[in-house]
Amino acid sequence: MADYDYDLFTIGAGSGGVRASRVAAAHGARVAVAEEYRIGGTCVIRGCVPKKMLVYGAHFAEDLEDARHFGWEMGECRFDWIKLRDNVLGDVDRLNGLYTQTLESNKVEIFHERATLTGPNEVTLASGEKKTARHILICTGARPHVPSCPGHEHGITSNEAFHLDAIPKRILIAGAGYIANEFAGIFHQFGAKVTLMNRSDQLLRGYDESIRDRLLQISMIKGINFRFNANFEKIEKNGDGSLVVHMSNHDPMEVDCVLFATGRVPNTQNLGLEDVGVKLNERGAIAVDEHSRTNIESIYAVGDVTDRVQLTPVAIREGQAFADTVFGGKPTTVDYSCIPSAVFSHPPIAAVGLTEAEATQKYGSVKVYTSDFRAMKNVVAHRNERSLYKMVCEASTERVLGIHMIGSESPEIMQAAAVAVKAGLTKADFDATVAIHPTMAEELVLLK
Ligand code: NDP
Repeated sequence: MADYDYDLFTIGAGSGGVRASRVAAAHGARVAVAEEYRIGGTCVIRGCVPKKMLVYGAHFAEDLEDARHFGWEMGECRFDWIKLRDNVLGDVDRLNGLYTQTLESNKVEIFHERATLTGPNEVTLASGEKKTARHILICTGARPHVPSCPGHEHGITSNEAFHLDAIPKRILIAGAGYIANEFAGIFHQFGAKVTLMNRSDQLLRGYDESIRDRLLQISMIKGINFRFNANFEKIEKNGDGSLVVHMSNHDPMEVDCVLFATGRVPNTQNLGLEDVGVKLNERGAIAVDEHSRTNIESIYAVGDVTDRVQLTPVAIREGQAFADTVFGGKPTTVDYSCIPSAVFSHPPIAAVGLTEAEATQKYGSVKVYTSDFRAMKNVVAHRNERSLYKMVCEASTERVLGIHMIGSESPEIMQAAAVAVKAGLTKADFDATVAIHPTMAEELVLLK
């Protein structure tokens, strides 16, 4: 039997890579991981985690306004971006340290450099050193896609958004997906004039239409501008640093910052994949089977680089399943059905299961229950913002096929509701549950 330096060499220490490495090590494997940037990956370093902290920070704009209706008298409030930015980045450093510690305490050897494949059982580090391993796991994630128009280099992506020296006065956000809507809310609350532009005439493709419509309506009332059916033509930089964006179907627009949030593409370049013969799928992601194995027997891949579902908890499950299968003697696959998700827009959206359109297409006839209500807090705050909850059920059995929500705390509420949907419960099961009053969540058991 060949003698390898390690049982597992992992390329990329993000959510999937860290989980797989530490679990494999706990199963007794000799593990090494190479990371060219920072341990923790996109989610921890420049994604979900710092973004959520900015979302919290942004909420204070409305909370402070609302507080006056609850009797709080305040002097002038001033927002200090640098303070928030540095506190957030400080916490990212802390988490980076914790992730590193987790690997070290599980005796995973860390190489802080880039690694590329140079054989089915061999990687070469940037330093030139070669390492061999019985199994290689690729978890290099994804990076922001930037449309190729003249002047695109003047724009930024979510990677840079966390490090800005100042909040731009006017920002154009390209795209209308998760990142675009989340940053639209953040920058708007921090006082920027926000315009969101998308190539199509809709936002948040894949989410339920009524919920998307409600977000658009609320966002417009808040003062966020939208430009649909718009494609970049060019971006010009003025002498004062401002940018002029030329786009199809609309007048040119002058802004101080352009943020590209136009999807993320798998990091598969210059990894040596072609040299070793690892196959990609039609979307340019690494093609894997249900056990995350590539066409090369010793090479596996998990997370965004495989572009199955680009969500951190999914990458973590894939990493865990890989380690349990290959090193734990327990073949495990990931169940991709009924994955709950959230968009941390203002207000946030949460969803699980099928949208009304998907359910109708699949089951022919469905029953839909909704609650369109103004939360008690908004009534006292004189905030005319309505939440919308929607339950989609199979017509004959009333089994809940999907739940879709927009309103404050909907991601927090959805996590529990998703358990019920995943378990295949019916509308009657929801109705049989006594409400917790007064809450927003009680609407889920009172749907008409
Ligand atoms: P999304 O896929 O959510 O949205 C991409 C947006 O960009 C869409 O509006 C799309 O338009 C548009 N677009 C795509 N390609 C192009 C192009 N070539 N030119 C112009 N516009 C384009 O991507 P995001 O970048 O917002 O996020 C990436 C992924 O990260 C998400 O899919 C998600 O899985 C994950 N994520 C999850 C979060 C969460 O869980 N809360 C938060 C942030 C990211 P169209 O609608 O026409 O296709």
